[in-house]
Amino acid sequence: MVKAEGVCKNFGALKVLKGVTLEIGRGQVLVLVGPSGSGKSTFLRCINHLEQVNGGRLHVDGELIGYRERGDKLYEMPPREAARQRRDIGMVFQHFNLFPHRTALANIIEAPIQVKGVKKAVAIERAKDLLEQVGMAEKATAYPAQLSGGQQQRVAIARALAMDPKLMLFDEPTSALDPELVGEVLGVMKKLASEGMTMVVVTHEMGFAREVADQLVFMDAGVIVERGNPRDVLSNPQEERTKAFLSKVM
Ligand code: ADP
Ligand code: MG
Repeated sequence: MVKAEGVCKNFGALKVLKGVTLEIGRGQVLVLVGPSGSGKSTFLRCINHLEQVNGGRLHVDGELIGYRERGDKLYEMPPREAARQRRDIGMVFQHFNLFPHRTALANIIEAPIQVKGVKKAVAIERAKDLLEQVGMAEKATAYPAQLSGGQQQRVAIARALAMDPKLMLFDEPTSALDPELVGEVLGVMKKLASEGMTMVVVTHEMGFAREVADQLVFMDAGVIVERGNPRDVLSNPQEERTKAFLSKVM
């Protein structure tokens, strides 16, 4: 579902991604960990072409992301086409970014109606289903300010799912939450994984990684230092940098 080949990204002179190569099979969950500033968010943003890459390629479901290939040259896609690709890739952020002046339900139906042209009645039915799936059926008419952080994040997940994405990207979805609210969000993500969603998750929740991930990738300073089955990497890290990092977060 995702194939990254030698992805490089610079911000001016700063080399943030220095050739990231990985693959994620359909229905797999990859957990990406690493110190702050190592390039995790930047990599996620490259996957849906919120950032241009300076080298390498990214494919999602067989499609080259953000570029057209002619001969041996890559040309950046017009924004409309990049936006079309992005519709199939859901993203959930640390800060939930719900529209504050809209109810939970109105937040969820917005993009399907505006972007996909789904009929309002159909979008509402689907949104109710999704709210049910994330355990928020009773809060359809609540405004974000009336919801806890964990509840807002579950609405944000439902909102991303409303576009029927083939891939979900999560960027530290629980790190802004009070500790007692983390479990309810991880529970929704775990269910999503068990239903076969392909997911890339940046998180420091190693219990989630151990239980749910098919691959654990440790990134530091823009390179993949170590990767493997989460149980192996967590219980028996091979690289010094991985050991040092894990000893801090576990
Ligand atoms: P992580 O998510 O692993 O904490 P990021 O991908 O957010 O790391 O950032 C990696 C590096 O890139 C950091 O040094 C950060 O300051 C830099 N960076 C991220 N976004 C930008 C930007 N838009 N312009 C300049 N530098 C950036
Ligand atoms: Mg980040």
